[in-house]
Amino acid sequence: MEQTLIAGKARVRFAPSPTGQVHVGNARTALFNWLFARQQGGVFILRIEDTDLERSEARYETQLIEDIQWLGLDWDEGPDVGGPYPPYRQSDKWQVYSDYAERLVAEGKAYRCFCKQEDLDRQREQAMAQHLQPNYPGTCRNLDAKEAERRRAAGEPSAIRLKIPEKPIRFHDIVRGWVEFSNEVVSDLIIVRSTGVPVYNYVVVVDDAEMRVTHVIRGDDHLSNTPKQVALYEALGWEVPEFAHLSTILGPDKERLSKRHGATSLANFREMGVLPEALMNYMALLGWAPTGGEREIFSPTELVQEFDLARVTPSPAVFDFEKLYWLNRHYIKEGAPERIAGLAEPFFARALGVELTADAKAWCAHVTAALGHSVNKLDELPERAGPVLKFDPAAALAAGENEEVLKAETTGKVLEAFAAKIAAEAEPVSAERFKAMIKEVQKEAGIKGPALFHPIRIMLTGAQSGPEFDKLVPLMEEGSRVLPGTIAGVKQRVKAFMEAWKG
Ligand code: GLU
Repeated sequence: MEQTLIAGKARVRFAPSPTGQVHVGNARTALFNWLFARQQGGVFILRIEDTDLERSEARYETQLIEDIQWLGLDWDEGPDVGGPYPPYRQSDKWQVYSDYAERLVAEGKAYRCFCKQEDLDRQREQAMAQHLQPNYPGTCRNLDAKEAERRRAAGEPSAIRLKIPEKPIRFHDIVRGWVEFSNEVVSDLIIVRSTGVPVYNYVVVVDDAEMRVTHVIRGDDHLSNTPKQVALYEALGWEVPEFAHLSTILGPDKERLSKRHGATSLANFREMGVLPEALMNYMALLGWAPTGGEREIFSPTELVQEFDLARVTPSPAVFDFEKLYWLNRHYIKEGAPERIAGLAEPFFARALGVELTADAKAWCAHVTAALGHSVNKLDELPERAGPVLKFDPAAALAAGENEEVLKAETTGKVLEAFAAKIAAEAEPVSAERFKAMIKEVQKEAGIKGPALFHPIRIMLTGAQSGPEFDKLVPLMEEGSRVLPGTIAGVKQRVKAFMEAWKG
């Protein structure tokens, strides 16, 4: 195989294992690879690392593709789009891994290991008990090649181990500079298990080299794997790529970010109504800051222009949910109203428990435009639109905060007078008529200010304060027309409230 050419076009990859949801840690790795590729005019590769056959599932592969597409990333090579160095899914490549391993054995750079698992476990425990590095003691390292071949031919199970040379292993990391590991912490690693299944540290090297990857950008949980991989590049005679290990992401309590901290997968954030551009903007700031460090709002195009791998910090990044939501609020406000309304529909459908017709969707768009300003996440919209969506006269009458208004001497008079006018009104009631009727009650009953407005507002919405009647009345009327039985109109509310009030 030809050597990779680091000096050529940048080629980077995102190499997820399809064993679960894509979490922000992995998504940030994908994002930094994508930003680097797009900025360098390079190539972004998606590779599916499914050598862990027990934990890998096709549905996770489908979902991860959907999730990272939702985030706004696209790739030039991958299992779905093909490319010049297939296959892009490891389980389709067993023969290639096996061939290179045999080559290493033939060249004396790797050897067959017949050690039994129980012996290895015992040796490991003994080393740990003596506070020694639990390295492989090298039992099979110097087995005679002919003897090894005889045992294998006789059917004795064997793994293949790489011979780690006795010298320090050094590599360059764009985020950390030169990194050196003593060979003593890297013992002869298994590259192919006795079952024939190759291990991650080995297949990743074969793939990165075959796919001509120039820069390996990944999480720093892989830092201790890198010397093993560098040893493999050297054994195979391949050029070692540049590395960039991204720092760990911590939760607000400075512990490693995990499910314990709440939403952490792309799917979770999407379900909450976080916009992809907000999440992309926020994740870009996890470990990277622009020159000057002040600016925080970046569109995807601006990120591609500004991003600089050399400015990525090795210190852990703390995930600040509030900052993400602040950015999200900004993007909801800035977003095209039709797009935001479209994204909001499922949240209304879920809250109302109905399928939305075209008319109902238009109504949701009106509700979003009138009441949806400055929500942090789209899933807050139904709550924000509560005065229109919900109507419960019994709860309004029982609410402690309404007690004083409902007990006031003039309240009965206001309610009766207003209800009589509404009952005589044709449907739909316009916002102008609604206000005119309040004025009429004011004149006729001689009651004004809060004593007039609060009872009417409780009758209509169940609370004394909230959005203006000008906004509420048209939404209630349109809602009752397009979602009858789900959204109560003005007349229906007033009638039901009066029945409960009298009852
Ligand atoms: N499949 C590995 C993971 O998901 C990829 C590691 C790498 O990028 O080399 O962690």
